[in-house]
Amino acid sequence: MKNYFPWEIEPKWQKIWEEKRLFWEVKEGKPKKFYALVEFPYPSGEGLHIGHAFTMSIMDVLARKKKMEGLNVLYPMGWDAFGLPTENYAVRTGIHPTVATEKNTARFRQQMKRLGFAYCWSREINTTDPSYYRWTQWIFIQLFKYGLAYKTQMPVGWCPRCKIVLANEEIVNSCCERCGMEAERRMQSQWLLKITAYADRLIDDLKLVDYPDFVKEAQINWIGRSEGITIDYLVVDENGNPHPEVEKVSCYTTRPDTNFGATFVVIAPEHPILASLVNPKSKAQNPKILAELEEYIKMSKKKSELERTALEKEKTGVFTGWYAINRLTGKKMPIWVADFVILTAGTGIVVGVPAHDQRDFDFAKKYGLEIIPVIKPVKGNWDFSKAPFTEIDGGVVFNSDFLNGLPAAKAIEKIIEYLEKKGWGQRAVNYHLRDWIFSRQHYWGEPIPMVYCERCAKKGITWWDVKKFKVQSSKFKVELDKDFKQRMAGWFPLEEKDLPLELPPVEKYQPTDTGESPLANVKEWVNTTCPHCGGPARRETDTMPNWAGSSWYYLAYIMKGNSKFEIRNSKLFEYWLPVDIYLGGGEHTTLHLLYSRFWHKFLYDIGVVTISEPYHARRQHGVILGEDGEKMSKSRGNVVNPDEVVEKFGADTLRVYLCFMGPYDATMPWSTKGLEGAWRFLNRIWRIYQEGKKIGDKTSPQLLRSLHQTIQKVTNDINNLSYNTAIAAMMSFLNKWSKGDSQLSKEHAGNFLKLLAPFTPHITEELWCSLTKQDTCPEMSINSIHLQAWPEYDPKLVEEEEVTIVIQVNGKVRGQIKVKSEIRNSQSKIEKLAKSEPRVAKYLAGKTPKKVIFVPGKLMNFVL
Ligand SMILES: [Zn+2]
Ligand SMILES: [Zn+2]
Repeated sequence: MKNYFPWEIEPKWQKIWEEKRLFWEVKEGKPKKFYALVEFPYPSGEGLHIGHAFTMSIMDVLARKKKMEGLNVLYPMGWDAFGLPTENYAVRTGIHPTVATEKNTARFRQQMKRLGFAYCWSREINTTDPSYYRWTQWIFIQLFKYGLAYKTQMPVGWCPRCKIVLANEEIVNSCCERCGMEAERRMQSQWLLKITAYADRLIDDLKLVDYPDFVKEAQINWIGRSEGITIDYLVVDENGNPHPEVEKVSCYTTRPDTNFGATFVVIAPEHPILASLVNPKSKAQNPKILAELEEYIKMSKKKSELERTALEKEKTGVFTGWYAINRLTGKKMPIWVADFVILTAGTGIVVGVPAHDQRDFDFAKKYGLEIIPVIKPVKGNWDFSKAPFTEIDGGVVFNSDFLNGLPAAKAIEKIIEYLEKKGWGQRAVNYHLRDWIFSRQHYWGEPIPMVYCERCAKKGITWWDVKKFKVQSSKFKVELDKDFKQRMAGWFPLEEKDLPLELPPVEKYQPTDTGESPLANVKEWVNTTCPHCGGPARRETDTMPNWAGSSWYYLAYIMKGNSKFEIRNSKLFEYWLPVDIYLGGGEHTTLHLLYSRFWHKFLYDIGVVTISEPYHARRQHGVILGEDGEKMSKSRGNVVNPDEVVEKFGADTLRVYLCFMGPYDATMPWSTKGLEGAWRFLNRIWRIYQEGKKIGDKTSPQLLRSLHQTIQKVTNDINNLSYNTAIAAMMSFLNKWSKGDSQLSKEHAGNFLKLLAPFTPHITEELWCSLTKQDTCPEMSINSIHLQAWPEYDPKLVEEEEVTIVIQVNGKVRGQIKVKSEIRNSQSKIEKLAKSEPRVAKYLAGKTPKKVIFVPGKLMNFVL
């Protein structure tokens, strides 16, 4: 007998599978489809890491099993290849990102094949392929046409040393990711996508999908829909005279029930209203305050939003010298500038109610501002000098005139009605979600396919006027107002025939000194002609963020099935969508998952796809820690390299270990001991099949039931991604089979092998080949175990031989009996057995039950 030698059999089968293109192809048409999607990787120079191997193994098992069940499985892989690490590598080495990407994807592909993943390689995609990003650009243009892409001035992160604009993900602990210099904020013109227009639907349609509750909640919280009121406050000086320029400030609040307790107003330091409110030219200004304010605003520009808003950070601020009138109380409330207020949250101005909000409370305490309690707990007392009372439920209003005595929740509705009637405020819905900043000043991204003509812009000529564009789809409700169009005057998208707009070669990959993308230096590319007037025009030099290509890649895999890579083929989309299961990481819950749902909904609205949600089910995989229980990192030296594991134990051992180490969604440490356990398990499998003593003509009766139970358990567990319990069941079956003289028939031995096949494709293929006596396997592509039908179990056989029936008398448990499974449903037989059970008989002695209640297989209750 040969020893188990994975280093020989694994490459052998990989080569044969590859030559036969065993898993490569998938054709539309079979009635039952299954679309299994796992997040595609960013092909970094580091190669595939153990986290990839883990996630991909999970999906590989499911996809293989669904295939064996006869479903038409689309199970593709591709590359999310635009991004900073490759660009940084290009900056350092001068090697073109395309070259680096090609090298990296080749390595990833080879590593995936070495792990035996059964991807449909004919559907491979790469987001950096011009034929791919042609459609990313096309989608951008559609978004522009429908008013969902626009350019505007935005505060952005800026590294004063590298002289580049920093995307949020490039700012780490408020410092530049590249050089560690503290990041600043500055204004820059940026493209944005109006994801906020879809905020409500992104919440409401979560009802349609099967996501874990915590994923749904995270999305809902991220969108952060709230209902409240925007209240206007008149602006006056300390003597009550109106401000010469600013009549009022408007503050959004979800807690107007506390408004009788409002004592100050806070404006975000970057708010444009400050230019007129504290206009240095105005005689009414106090120069000392102005100087203080100027210093404060400069300082707050350096802080990140997170730093500014964190609850535990000390609050700072400067008094403007102006007041806002609370018309409910007639009170003059000092107006402050403080950076814990963010421009884009609500109106960028908030009213301070220190008795009922923690940040307001901290601020008031620090600057000695008045604290007026207006809500108290229904029961008990509250010490308002120590902490604010922030609850709604369980709060009752006082100190508030006509609201007194109302529960806080009721008071909210009443005060909104009152303020609206008075004309002092308007009902408003607010979202935490902001429009998606879609510009990057980097080279390695999709060029934004837009041209700007200054001459047309000056004349106010817009693309919509030129094209007389009419919204075609009835599903589409966004109305383009005139102002919006005017702001976009002079901007023209490329014609579809001119796509893709390819990245031109550049000499340097660094952003320019002005913070523009390096594309701005390629004059012959930038300078073009206006599609409308034919005059000189400029191309947009910003590129798209790395979230762009991944927002629709699940459609690209489908498009690959067509001879032409074409997005307008709803027949194919109709067949494959939605994705049946999408496995990915927690870091994508609120970005990638929301972005792609947004794009999908837009594509639905314009008729590209026919259903409104892309992913039927989402599952979130766990994380593998180092053997020391810490996050894997090079500096800790606890990184597990999948290549090394494969070299030592083979891919099958790694796969079965990854599936066995715990629930797929758990965070768990790597264990060399566990890996060795998996190795021993496969060696035992190998020996029992190779020795052949345990395989005979007939299956021992005591094994038959156990085999069917194992088939049932593994079948159900794989569907629930509960692989650790599935493997445990197979191990326990192997133990039973190994014992004594029990044997499996050849057919049943084959069935057990099939259960194991999705987990360990190589060893099972080898053993299947010798079991079925096809040593050379000339008909491999037909005989492969991976093309066999998934074994079925006999429902009668999976039942336990004996079941326990609980016996009650008048609803009280008086005993239990064990009965043969065959009679578990027979009331008369069980009644007879129950009556002869001594402990029960005692209670029934001499009495005839009025009624016998029987729950088959479970319970019998004698009612006397
Ligand atoms: Zn820097
Ligand atoms: Zn023009």
